[in-house]
Parts: sequence; C-alpha cells; structure tokens
Amino acid sequence: MSRPKDLYDLQQIDSQLDRINARLKEIAAILADDQAVRQAQGEADKAAQHLAEAQKQLQQARQIVQAQRTKIQQEEDKLYSGRVVNPKELNDLQNEVAALKRHLDTLEERQIEAMLLVDETSAVNERAQQKLEAVKAESAQRNQTLIAEREALLTQRADLETRRQKQSARLTAEDRELYERLRTTRGRIAVARVQERTCAACGSTLISATRQQARSPSSITLCDTCGRILYSD
Ligand SMILES: [Zn+2]
Repeated sequence: MSRPKDLYDLQQIDSQLDRINARLKEIAAILADDQAVRQAQGEADKAAQHLAEAQKQLQQARQIVQAQRTKIQQEEDKLYSGRVVNPKELNDLQNEVAALKRHLDTLEERQIEAMLLVDETSAVNERAQQKLEAVKAESAQRNQTLIAEREALLTQRADLETRRQKQSARLTAEDRELYERLRTTRGRIAVARVQERTCAACGSTLISATRQQARSPSSITLCDTCGRILYSD
C-alpha cells in the first residue's frame, strides 16, 4: 500500500468526474436553448405573416376592380338604354364613363402589383418554411446524439462514484482531509505527478531530496512551490 499512490488514484477518479460533470452541464445548456430553431421559427413566422398581408391586399384590390367594372357597366347601360336623350346629359354621361374607365386602368395596375407581391412573398415564405423544417430535423438529430451521450455519461458517473467511495475508504482520515482541502484550494488538483524532475501541476523543478522523498510509499511529500501532494511512479 502506498499513500501517495492511493491519493493519486483518487485524484484520477475525481478528475474524470469533473470532466463528466462539466460536459453534462454543457449538454443541459444546449438542450435547453436551441437558438437555431428559434431563429428559423421567427423567420418562418414573419414570412407567413407577410404572405397573409399580401393576400389580403390582393383580395381588396380585386374587389375594388370588380366594383369599378360594375359601376361602368351600369353607366353604359344607362347611356345605351335610349332613356337619356338630352345631348348635354348624354355628353356628361359619356365623359363620366370615360373617366371611370381611366380610373379602372389605375385600379387594374394596382391589382397586378398586388399579385406580384403575393408571388414574391409566397416564394420567400416557402423557402423559410423549408429552412425551418431542415433546421428542426437537424436539431432533433443533434439532440438525439446529445441525449445518448448524456445517458452514457450518467452510467459512467455512477460507476466512478462507486469507485470513488472505495478509493476514498483506503485513505487515512488525515490524508483524506488534506486531499479534500487541497482540492478546494488548488483548482481541484490536489495530487501532482513527478514528471522528469518537475511537478506536473505547476511545472517547477523539484530538488533531488524532494523527488526521493516523494517515492516513499509511507509518507506524504508536498511540492515546495504549489503545495500539492507529489506522486512519483
Ligand atoms: Zn507544484
């Protein structure tokens, strides 16, 4: 049994748990906030609204043209009915029909413009709806992958937590207390490996005596620079 090795093994388990927990947090955030779908939905809603407005305008333009044609028809009926015989009255009536027809041209132009606007907004709307479907499908696929990853991580975490309990139980109360204290004050890394004469956590060079001491299975040696527990394999 080696005290530094037991502490190092616990550190390895905890570091894995830290990575898993960080990734689980990331996944939860991604699943909760699907910005791409929200944006595509917003654009699709806007495009559908523009199309509905254009269709309403076209309907109104058609009704106005129809009403104008009816009015012209009525005036022409009156003109050719033979009931109006007074030349001045006939002349006035002819002028009125001509004026009504000129205005009909303008109204028909407006109707054509309204039709063109419907075509245009309809095409934009179709593209927006297609994009929304694609983004939704993509998101569902991505979420499926993320959900599967989350399941795997949760299983892995449960295994590690069992292993952690066992590993922690191997330590003396004193070593456990030191380890937990260093974990909270040293950026969650309490144990550092000795790697080519240096402390792998802070990178400082260790003196020969410290390196030799770190190899002892029965004692705890701390890095002179960062104060972490040293482990030499
Ligand atoms: Zn160090």
